[in-house]
Amino acid sequence: MADQKRMHQDIETLRKISEPCAAGTQRPSYTPEYREGVEYMKGRMAEFGLEVREDTVGNLFGVLRGTDPEAPSIISGSHLDSVKCSGAFDGIAGVVCALEAARMIQESKKPLKHTYEVLGTIGEEGTRFGQVLIGSQFMEGSFGEAQLDSVKGLEDGLTLRETIRNYGLTGDPAGACRRQDKVKAFIELHAEQGPILENAGKSIGIVENIVAISWLEVSVHGVASHPGTIPMDVRHDAGVGAFELICAVTRYAAQHYNGIATVTTGRLNLLPGSTNCIPSECDFTLDIRTCDEAARADLIRYTVETAKQVAVKCRVEINVQEAVHREHVPTDSHIEDLVEEAAAKLGYSHMRMNSGAGHDAMIFKRIWPAGMIFLPSHEGLTHHPDELVAFEDMEKGANVLYEVIRMLDEE
Ligand SMILES: [Zn+2]
Repeated sequence: MADQKRMHQDIETLRKISEPCAAGTQRPSYTPEYREGVEYMKGRMAEFGLEVREDTVGNLFGVLRGTDPEAPSIISGSHLDSVKCSGAFDGIAGVVCALEAARMIQESKKPLKHTYEVLGTIGEEGTRFGQVLIGSQFMEGSFGEAQLDSVKGLEDGLTLRETIRNYGLTGDPAGACRRQDKVKAFIELHAEQGPILENAGKSIGIVENIVAISWLEVSVHGVASHPGTIPMDVRHDAGVGAFELICAVTRYAAQHYNGIATVTTGRLNLLPGSTNCIPSECDFTLDIRTCDEAARADLIRYTVETAKQVAVKCRVEINVQEAVHREHVPTDSHIEDLVEEAAAKLGYSHMRMNSGAGHDAMIFKRIWPAGMIFLPSHEGLTHHPDELVAFEDMEKGANVLYEVIRMLDEE
């Protein structure tokens, strides 16, 4: 059985390995603190007899060789980097539970036929480059020489290539790409990052889909003028047009798609942006997420149609562009079934659900069977210093992961 104490030690040690920050943990990729976290994990992997290696872009592996050298690998893990002022569980929980499963395999004295790899990916969060899922996309092969030069640090302006070299690695894409490797399964355990499991009183989430995302960029054009001289019924106020549209779309989503889709305006810009001027321009974003393609299509249709009505009503022009369109990613149904079977066998409460956030698993699903296990996030908090996954849930997660690995190994 999994040992909470070991996982507690790993989580609490990594929590303290942080850049100075106002609160929480801050360990962006390719920093001295990231290196320190990796060295700690290497030590823990070696302590339990795993072969340790880092690929050319900084993904970390702890490998337990299987008894059958021809058998494909089973890989489990998540990301080791963090956002700014983060908690101690996002990503890290998945690496620590994957390592705990390796320790359980070692303690069982019953080696696997398949090689088992514990993975800690680098650059999953967009903290340093504004680009997410870097390490996994080098492994999957869609990132290569081009991204080494095109991806640049948000603060230092250095290219990814320069950053990786300064970190002490070559960055050679060929040394990271695993596209040709046969892999039996990739399993990512992750904090849910939402309140659904906790509210339902369930310990284990079986992820069925990772959400589709549409980013709509909306621009509203009006006419700037004096705020005191233009009567309300003749002005062309770009701000009012934007607010009407945002309220209409979010209300529509809440009425028709609560629990199915989300709509969020996270960025809004008013021009000229002064107290004594009617806004002439307003640009804003609508982030639409859902696993239901019909819901996405309907929300986009509603946005476009409502924009036309609001444009007439508010005497403005409105343009709606879909800047990002990413399909939802169904996880591997066989892995879903195994996670469900393992949770049931262990007597843990569980439910099937979707992931509202993107994860490395959706990248690996392009080339390998990939699945996810979610653990409850206390109060749904994430990307927050108080982020918490209860250690009893970490223990359950590691036990489920171990069972799934055993079942895959015996197939
Ligand atoms: Zn994460």
